[in-house]
Amino acid sequence: MKEFKHFINGEFLASASGVTFDNRDPVDNSFIGLVHEAGKAEVDNAVKAAKSALKGPWGRMTQAARIEILNRVADRINERFEEFLTAECQDTGKPRSMASHIDIPRGAANFKAFSETLANHPTESFKLNTPDGSGALNYGHRKPKGVIAVISPWNLPLLLMTFKVGPALACGNTVVVKPSEETPATATLLGEVMNECGIPAGVYNVVHGFGPDSAGEFLTTHKDVDAITFTGETRTGEIIMQAAAVGLRNISMECGGKNPAIVFADCDMDKAIEGTMRSAFVNCGQVCLGTERVYVERPIFDEFVTRLKAGVEGLKLGRPEDQEANFGPLVSLEHRDKVLSYYRLAIEEGAELIIGGGVPDMGAQMNEGAWIEPTIWTGLADDARVINEEIFGPCCHIRPFDSEDEVIELANNTNYGLCASIWTENSSRAIRVAESMDVGLAWVNSWFLRDLRTAFGGAKQSGIGREGGIHGLEFYTETKNICIKM
Ligand code: NAD
Repeated sequence: MKEFKHFINGEFLASASGVTFDNRDPVDNSFIGLVHEAGKAEVDNAVKAAKSALKGPWGRMTQAARIEILNRVADRINERFEEFLTAECQDTGKPRSMASHIDIPRGAANFKAFSETLANHPTESFKLNTPDGSGALNYGHRKPKGVIAVISPWNLPLLLMTFKVGPALACGNTVVVKPSEETPATATLLGEVMNECGIPAGVYNVVHGFGPDSAGEFLTTHKDVDAITFTGETRTGEIIMQAAAVGLRNISMECGGKNPAIVFADCDMDKAIEGTMRSAFVNCGQVCLGTERVYVERPIFDEFVTRLKAGVEGLKLGRPEDQEANFGPLVSLEHRDKVLSYYRLAIEEGAELIIGGGVPDMGAQMNEGAWIEPTIWTGLADDARVINEEIFGPCCHIRPFDSEDEVIELANNTNYGLCASIWTENSSRAIRVAESMDVGLAWVNSWFLRDLRTAFGGAKQSGIGREGGIHGLEFYTETKNICIKM
């Protein structure tokens, strides 16, 4: 039977308590294997291993040597591509066609991109005049922050985890990763790769389990964790922030969103439909950057709704290995219950159902899985809960608008501020509207187009801080000023 053990100090270890939980495939709810749940003892051992590794060969390694070894990690993930792909698709049910283009290659690339940023980004230096005329030289020196706790979600498990582990290790830190309880596989497999590539024991550790009163809480409240980087729900982020307040530990938070797409009448309709199909429905709508609110300028509203509906009719639901399929199940039956509760709420709140709204008949075995229909609504009031709360499913609401000022107001009228997509061929308008969005990322005529050198993060309740490129270096290092009197 398959078991997912903790990876602590370079070894795969079972929980001392013997407590495990099931990992299930969302395609048909079949059993994948047993996951060991970490108690305080395992978390403590992992943090101890990470702390002592800071002083071992990892701490003494030159930056160039670290970068070389991390490049090997990226290459080794690509060499073991098929194993990572199978593990990710089994945990999430997502189509292999998607995971082979996004999850695994981008997961590997995260170990290279940040190394280059680190190698090529200088620190500041200032010459100070002193009264005695001899002067002083100041220069910035980056030190690793120490032990970083990485708490990650289930929607893009490898990619979002390595987006943090890559820069954290490049900067010389050590990490303890707590992957989502729904998706333990790729973080565990990465332990094997770390050993194969010669990453010293204790540098990369993984503990499995849940959040409250489990591995997540034990890790984020551990006094020897120096900083916490988190991706997940805003509500969880609030709890982790409280834990981080004890001992004044630094945090980076990438949280939920309720992202708008704004489609102007002067857009290229083909591009806007193709982009909105992806932003609303890819990964079964389980992308933090996904679009759940679509605002369309009135002259093209009916055409847009008709064409997006036709796009949804063209989605092909199927198992990950089905080459024709481009739409998988939700991650779990529990998450489906949540999304279905919003499907019911939309109708109660007065939505007009354009397509979807329920559970598809997938045939005997797959009917046990977490399948759901992609869904479009129109006609909801702006204060409806379905318009204001993150659903994290394959659904969107489309509303007409009449002016640029009106749509800016509507798009920004949310507690969240992760991203926005703007569809127009008028470049002045594109820049004007993009700059007026209260978000961390604004896309024009595109979506999910990411350059790893740029800032990533959310405004308002979508997060705190920025990662990516130099912004990641700011979080993962402590910049010390060294002042030398001449
Ligand atoms: P979640 O908040 O339920 O869980 C995320 C992680 O936190 C998991 O590993 C979980 O076990 C852990 N956790 C839960 N409670 C905890 C606690 N009290 N202490 C410590 N750890 C705890 O989120 P999820 O359901 O896994 O992921 C979906 C959410 O993530 C959505 O809200 C989505 O928008 C968000 N997300 C944001 C981004 C981003 O970059 N902004 C990216 C992906 C997902």
